[in-house]
Amino acid sequence: GGLLEQIKFEGGRFRRKQEAVHAINGVDLDVNRGEALCVVGESGCGKSTVARTVMGLLSPSAGEIEYDGNRIDHLEGKDVLPYRRKMQMIFQNPYASLNPRMTIQQTLEEPIRFHHPDWSPMQIRDKIHEVMHSVGIDPDWGSRFGHEFSGGQRQRIAIARALAVDPEFIVADEPISALDVSIQAQVLNLLMDAQESRGLTYLFITHDLAVVEHFGTRVAVMYLGRVCELADTQTLFATPRHPYTQALLSAIPKLEDDRPNHIRLQGEVPTPVNLPSGCVFHGRCPYANDRCRQEIPELIATDGGARVACHAVEEGRL
Ligand code: SF4
Ligand code: MG
Repeated sequence: GGLLEQIKFEGGRFRRKQEAVHAINGVDLDVNRGEALCVVGESGCGKSTVARTVMGLLSPSAGEIEYDGNRIDHLEGKDVLPYRRKMQMIFQNPYASLNPRMTIQQTLEEPIRFHHPDWSPMQIRDKIHEVMHSVGIDPDWGSRFGHEFSGGQRQRIAIARALAVDPEFIVADEPISALDVSIQAQVLNLLMDAQESRGLTYLFITHDLAVVEHFGTRVAVMYLGRVCELADTQTLFATPRHPYTQALLSAIPKLEDDRPNHIRLQGEVPTPVNLPSGCVFHGRCPYANDRCRQEIPELIATDGGARVACHAVEEGRL
């Protein structure tokens, strides 16, 4: 697989109301065709901002997004349409992302008509039938309304809606975390099957390391708007290098432990509005020194294959 994406954000800061609440800085990621790149981190680390920026829902103040070698972050009008079709997003909350007063038929028809105005009613019907079947929703239920379906079924329909326009690249922002635990694995498996059968590429946003281990080809670990480690999934779980990654992995609850499977660290997370100088992790890091408090560490390739942004790793003292 060739290179599908180059995502570079430099000093991207996003405003909601009067307050800059989300910031990502120096995030530089490539997504390879056919892979699932998982972006993992605690809430507020900027992973959803990365997802929304890639999809063009937010504009970075600096940096660029390339798709198949073409810069797409400043496209307008007709030029953006091919990418609107090729790149689809699946959101966390299927209750918010599906209109409960539209039938499933209408929900699925809308994007197909938009992207294929020349299609016949029969082509549209066949496509709707195909995607409903492939997400495990009975195609005979097309005249039912969104509100008649459970959360898991609604997320299947949201996935069908994304698949209906034959995308290449799917950005999924916590697509299973709002669902009942009992159906999370089913929906995750559905996404994996779709990847296999349709040759999809995923940028998969999650806070859940069990999902990453199951689903990810590679993992980018984010903390306070920066990527601190980028590695193959197996490498990351076998030999985590960044102190933050190590803390995340050590916080995974054991099977016999019935705490919820969420990431938790001791200490206070600074706000993205008032970032610490140097390494953003220095206030919580046992290996921090003066250099860490002053100089921002770059993502640097290590012997093990991971790329790690940490002075201690670079200096060989970790
Ligand atoms: Fe810790 Fe310094 Fe590495 Fe940051 S750069 S993770 S503060 S050792
Ligand atoms: Mg989020």
